[in-house]
Amino acid sequence: MEKIPSPCIGINPIKLKDSSFLQGLLKEIKNSLGVQTKIITVLNDIEFAYHEGRGQYYSTRILEELNRLTPDKYLRVLAITDKDLFIPILTYVYGEAQLDGRAAIISTNRLMPQNRSPKELMKFSSRIIKEALHELGHTFGLTHCRDKRCIMHYCRTLREVDEKQTKFCFFCETLLMDKLK
Ligand SMILES: [Zn+2]
Ligand SMILES: [Zn+2]
Repeated sequence: MEKIPSPCIGINPIKLKDSSFLQGLLKEIKNSLGVQTKIITVLNDIEFAYHEGRGQYYSTRILEELNRLTPDKYLRVLAITDKDLFIPILTYVYGEAQLDGRAAIISTNRLMPQNRSPKELMKFSSRIIKEALHELGHTFGLTHCRDKRCIMHYCRTLREVDEKQTKFCFFCETLLMDKLK
């Protein structure tokens, strides 16, 4: 049997057309949370969550499946899709997570760069890292933060995402470290 370092966060990429950012993301999550990360396959597709009328995928439904199917040995699971996600009250979401729960998902769909220049690609990877840490933050019980530079700040636009740092503010960091102890 393969040995899983514990605790470990499972990262489940779902049919990504571009996965060039994955290794960097795994490293960032490990560095920020101090927890091992590993690529896993829990879900192969999210077609079960497809909403015909909206042409989007219902993220809350995906979280339920992720939580149900991920082996207990994983502390958390983060899925990554390039499909567009929604929850009924919003037009779209960059991601969703179970507050104080185990599952999170992010979508790269609306984080895409305008072109493939190195600068835009850097922005793209950075947005993914921010959204991933944001949703994982929710799984550790963190709620939205008023500090615009904090990872836990709620962003509605890419400009806001680009303006925040790839870091938790002192307050959120303290709460997070408490949870991770
Ligand atoms: Zn949030
Ligand atoms: Zn904060």
